[in-house]
Amino acid sequence: MQESILNVMAVVCHPADAIDGAGGTLALHADRGDLVTVVVCTHGVDTHDLERNDVFRYGVQRETLDHGTALGRKEREVAEGLRLLGVEDVRFLRFPDELLMVTRDLIEAIAEVMAEVQPHLLVLHNPTEDLGLADVGHADSAIAALKARYLANTPRFLEGKPVPGRQFPAQIFFMCMNGKTTVLTAAGERWGNVLVDITPVVERKVRAMDCLTSQYYPGDLARKCIEDVNGRMGLHWRLPYAEAFQSFHPDIHSHLPVNPYLLDRAATPAAEELARMKITVTDVPFDS
Ligand SMILES: [Zn+2]
Repeated sequence: MQESILNVMAVVCHPADAIDGAGGTLALHADRGDLVTVVVCTHGVDTHDLERNDVFRYGVQRETLDHGTALGRKEREVAEGLRLLGVEDVRFLRFPDELLMVTRDLIEAIAEVMAEVQPHLLVLHNPTEDLGLADVGHADSAIAALKARYLANTPRFLEGKPVPGRQFPAQIFFMCMNGKTTVLTAAGERWGNVLVDITPVVERKVRAMDCLTSQYYPGDLARKCIEDVNGRMGLHWRLPYAEAFQSFHPDIHSHLPVNPYLLDRAATPAAEELARMKITVTDVPFDS
């Protein structure tokens, strides 16, 4: 079957989430010629500008940006990071991140982009993150996007949009939660039944994380996050770096599937595979 171009749409809660959770995967899709759109629900300034938080919460003495300037900086950081990953189409919905709720306004704003983009694949947070009880808004953004799928395909949103290429999202991938470790996250959200080998683009992911100054990522922290999170996701499958997802729908096949990666792995001596595991992102230079 000829591989066709896919419209891939990631809907995330905070500005850095798409880079953090799926940046390597989005880069691989962009590289294969897919149309990648990132929708960022909140502006992130109230909770995810850690420099401002340190001033307002902890009284750290530092000059701070006013809200509007901080918002502009955040969007520039994320747009620049995504650009390094090959993703140019980013939509900032600018909902306040101090409290994100599943509201009609949020669902409609996502549906508007969805009706335009007509994604084949959606990438979302896991809607069960923290069992929905203590989550910072990730789950709410995912639930809003799941509801927006239906709204985006109603006459009000489709009116004026071209009919060819209309596509109800065929598959949805939930990003494995990597933000917190609490008793509420013990239900398995960190286990992915779909791994994407991001090793070929991991250096670009590091450099994209280096753009996220307002979250203190540039330099050592970006490298530690990727080594710990993406390194761990791939470790037991002898992939140097992987991003992990859970698929919403079952896959459908004409016979029992086995993936080329698994076949290759089964036929490769351990010494050869483990030699590959020695690469680390700490080798990626940081130009401050
Ligand atoms: Zn987030």
